[in-house]
Amino acid sequence: MQALPAAEIDEKVFALQEAITPQIDCQQCGNCCKTLMIQVTAAEASSVAAHLQQDPHQFMDAYLEKGIGEQMIMQSMPCTFLQNRSCSIYEHRFAGCKEFPALHLPGFTSRFFTFAMHYGRCPIVFNTIEALKIECDFFIKDVPNTH
Ligand code: SF4
Ligand code: SF4
Repeated sequence: MQALPAAEIDEKVFALQEAITPQIDCQQCGNCCKTLMIQVTAAEASSVAAHLQQDPHQFMDAYLEKGIGEQMIMQSMPCTFLQNRSCSIYEHRFAGCKEFPALHLPGFTSRFFTFAMHYGRCPIVFNTIEALKIECDFFIKDVPNTH
């Protein structure tokens, strides 16, 4: 086993997530929409409010609460907009929703703590990490059998 440079790991992660993502049906999962507190900016709130033909302040009162600093978060979990396993505002969903699980962005190694958090939540993250372990030859030869 040998540690790889972070940029090399990123390249492997990009390739793996590109191959793995199309094999996962997010509509059969929805775990991110069910279990994460999605961050929302004021501009995003106004945009979704306009799409729903709601007053932005009423929208914020109804759906959002204050997060860290200036950030706001959805106040309900599962997300209010998750309906019948689909996002009811899909075309207008928030940047954090579009980005998740963010395996296509650089910095896998430095952001690993977030992927560790999502390992048991997101099948894309789980399978990418498992495939990465094989790619990096990071398995020990004799895996203990506890059965
Ligand atoms: S948790 Fe991952 S696999 Fe599940 S819906 Fe979200 S992005 Fe898709
Ligand atoms: S806005 Fe849509 S994509 Fe984002 S968490 Fe809610 S249901 Fe999921």
